[in-house]
Amino acid sequence: MHALLILALITLSASTPSQVRYDGYEVLRIVPRSEDQMQWMEHFEETFVSKLDFWRMSHSVNQPLDVMVPPRYQTELRELLESRGIGFSVHIEDVQKLIEESMKSSAGVRAVSGFDYNTYHTYEELMQWVTNFVSEYSNIAEEIVVTRSVEGRDIKAIKLGRKSSGKPGAFMQGGIHAREWISPATMVNVAKKLAESYGSDPDVTAMLDSFDWYIVPCLNVDGYSYSWTNDRMWRKNRQVTSKRRCMGVDLNRNYDYQWGGRGASSNECDETYHGPSPMSEPELSGLTTWLLGLKAAGQPFHMHMDVHAYGQYWLYPWGYSALVPLPPEAGDMDTVARKATSSLANLYGTSYLVGGSAKAMYAASGASEDWGFGTLGAKYTYVVELRDEGRYGFLLPEFQIQPTAEETFEAIKELGRSLVAEYGL
Ligand SMILES: [Zn+2]
Repeated sequence: MHALLILALITLSASTPSQVRYDGYEVLRIVPRSEDQMQWMEHFEETFVSKLDFWRMSHSVNQPLDVMVPPRYQTELRELLESRGIGFSVHIEDVQKLIEESMKSSAGVRAVSGFDYNTYHTYEELMQWVTNFVSEYSNIAEEIVVTRSVEGRDIKAIKLGRKSSGKPGAFMQGGIHAREWISPATMVNVAKKLAESYGSDPDVTAMLDSFDWYIVPCLNVDGYSYSWTNDRMWRKNRQVTSKRRCMGVDLNRNYDYQWGGRGASSNECDETYHGPSPMSEPELSGLTTWLLGLKAAGQPFHMHMDVHAYGQYWLYPWGYSALVPLPPEAGDMDTVARKATSSLANLYGTSYLVGGSAKAMYAASGASEDWGFGTLGAKYTYVVELRDEGRYGFLLPEFQIQPTAEETFEAIKELGRSLVAEYGL
């Protein structure tokens, strides 16, 4: 008996950290077809926001909502939807199975030497890549440690551009939400493509000659690490919250622009918890202090882009409300976004929806786009939701990393052309 107990304890401690499993969890897609159904679904979101994980919210008729449902709620929820006459489909049958499938090449056929641009990478691998990358392209690239996370990890940026002073800045960040792995993977690939094309592609050369490009491949480094070691579906950072019931603050609700309004939660257990105060989180206070410091030192920023997944949206401010008028610059932001997404679509036919963030998607206050535009003053401020439209959601398979990066690079080049035309040398 005693020996068995000891053996059990040894086995337990050997298998730490324990991974959260999603066996039998399904993702339902629910599409409201009328105003009545829409209203009911908003009520449904409010009621279940702490119990279910909403992968994608819906705040307008015909806009799909994706929700992950654990086995214990499945029958109840289906009955509820059927009794209301609301159509739904099972989009993902077994989340755990998909997690394992999407990780297959990460676990099995890792590159023996060098960095594999076609697989997902851990935080440590990404940071090693930054160091190697800037030393390979030392004529145009620099590594900057921007700040540190709650758990003390470095948050790094790559500065890309011809080395000269007096250039304006363009900023891109990935990985603010931990589980959106395609975002850091795309940032890494885009940085590589920019560096490789400098000197041979005239558009890229002009972009890097006229601007300093700052790329933070992974902002929410603690959450990202946790999504590898413990919970693939983790979204927030890893802050210990005051009531200590749940962990983490949603960094994309913690910016100090219209903080604490619509689309942000004061409940620390919610996925959209906005934190105890604006900029309470070191990841954001460090990042924004650094950006504002560059601006104060004489470098204006004309682009601020925050890259997420999923849904294929290319959005601009405002995020905090759909009821306020769009900013006067929205016309230009819209024009450039349409050019960018049409270049993107030319490659593989991937179609994006362009529009004001709150109007086209849903209201979210304290989010990056309102700060980038309203506080940093970047005329071209975007929040981008990469692939896909929900077939895989956050679990985009690795074979889609390259096409996603290639098409996104086309869009960024188009943005670059516009920036150079408006502000370039
Ligand atoms: Zn996100």
